[in-house]
Amino acid sequence: MTNIVLFGKPGAGKGTQAEFLKEKYNLVHLSTGDIFRYNMKNDTELGKLAKSYISAGNLVPDEVTTKMVIDSVNANPEANGFLFDGYPRNLSQAEALDAFLESKNMNVAATVALEADDEVLVNRILERGKISQRPDDLDEATIRNRYVVYNNETAPLVAFYKQQGKFHAVDGIGEISEITGRLSAVIDNL
Ligand code: AMP
Repeated sequence: MTNIVLFGKPGAGKGTQAEFLKEKYNLVHLSTGDIFRYNMKNDTELGKLAKSYISAGNLVPDEVTTKMVIDSVNANPEANGFLFDGYPRNLSQAEALDAFLESKNMNVAATVALEADDEVLVNRILERGKISQRPDDLDEATIRNRYVVYNNETAPLVAFYKQQGKFHAVDGIGEISEITGRLSAVIDNL
């Protein structure tokens, strides 16, 4: 069982790369952003709860997000491994994930980060918004707040995973297939 955390700022290409990696390594793709969007679209209780946080570019509370991740892992007992995309996003989530996986005799094998410059990414997200029509991709102030949240809350996870010897970074700029190649080189070496 190989569990990978796909790490990177908003717009770094996690979702795009996850589509390739999940096929290549036969992993269950678990994107917290996608699950929240599904719930918002279907107007579930979880969707209603998450909406105000997401539309402001803030994090949904940890208890809600972590429970959702645990439920999703438990719903896939046959999985060969998970590709966590967009989770964990702060230290308390990373600790909760470690504790949960440990309770199931599992672990995070590696965290693989897609690196790119904030300004490149903000422009990329504004372009993506024209197609995705995601409300949090349309407003520049909301987008910029997501980078503030990333820098304050998510960036400390780099040190957390480095300390565990599990942090690997690749250049997130280039052709999609080129970047998949860089990520695969890391995963193949685990
Ligand atoms: P994403 O699609 O990963 O960019 O996520 C979109 C939004 O969903 C984020 O800006 C947050 O508001 C929320 N979200 C996704 N993952 C998490 C998480 N691990 N913790 C808290 N909020 C999250």
